[in-house]
Amino acid sequence: MLHIDILTLFPRMFAGALDESIIKRARKKKLVRIEVHDLRRWSKDKHKKVDDRPYGGGPGMILSCQPIFDAVSSLTKRSKGSRVILLSPQGKKFNQKAANRLAKQKHLVLICGRYEGVDERVRKALVTDEISIGDYVLTGGEIPAMVMIDAITRMVPGVLGNKESTKFESFQDEMLEYPQYTRPRAYNGLKVPEVLLTGNHHKIENWRYKKSLKITRKAGMRK
Ligand code: SAM
Repeated sequence: MLHIDILTLFPRMFAGALDESIIKRARKKKLVRIEVHDLRRWSKDKHKKVDDRPYGGGPGMILSCQPIFDAVSSLTKRSKGSRVILLSPQGKKFNQKAANRLAKQKHLVLICGRYEGVDERVRKALVTDEISIGDYVLTGGEIPAMVMIDAITRMVPGVLGNKESTKFESFQDEMLEYPQYTRPRAYNGLKVPEVLLTGNHHKIENWRYKKSLKITRKAGMRK
């Protein structure tokens, strides 16, 4: 079973995202185990402080080494080959391929940064992967962690009801998905393309492939 540990200063942010719908079901069915940990638990400071001012000056606070090193050491001591992931705007851009790959791992530890980020020694000595969810700066790593967990969990076998449902999705095979329609056949004069009503699977496949290709090219993902 995939096991995900999250290290954060704001554990309550995860309620909702992890306790509803498909992720809730996946957790209940024991297809994925997700645990949210308050980083302060590992702080040796008498006031449970986890940050300090940057050496050399500058604005904001930096998350210190001690609580993060101790937390990761305690969370990884019983598992081999854990991926220790730092959420960071400087990281490698997260995409569908990364979600597919990480869904096959046994244990992920996600470190959610805050304030001005984390002490560089965490990045250098502890982290196996540094991941960004896009070229913008957020206030913390919690929302990026939720984005990753959502994308990863749905790729765990058995999580989505219909086995086929991820196969033809956007980004699998580096293509975007074709347009989808449901009833009624006409809505306020807007009609469903005739080909989808023919029952001719060959023609439908063909139409879908062409539409997929057009959408993928338009998005600049293919020539
Ligand atoms: N001072 C840092 C910099 O300029 O790169 C930004 C720190 S940001 C305000 C605080 C934390 O939010 C980061 O340590 C990281 O964990 C998280 N974060 C912000 N933007 C992110 C992104 N695009 N992807 C992943 N994590 C992000």
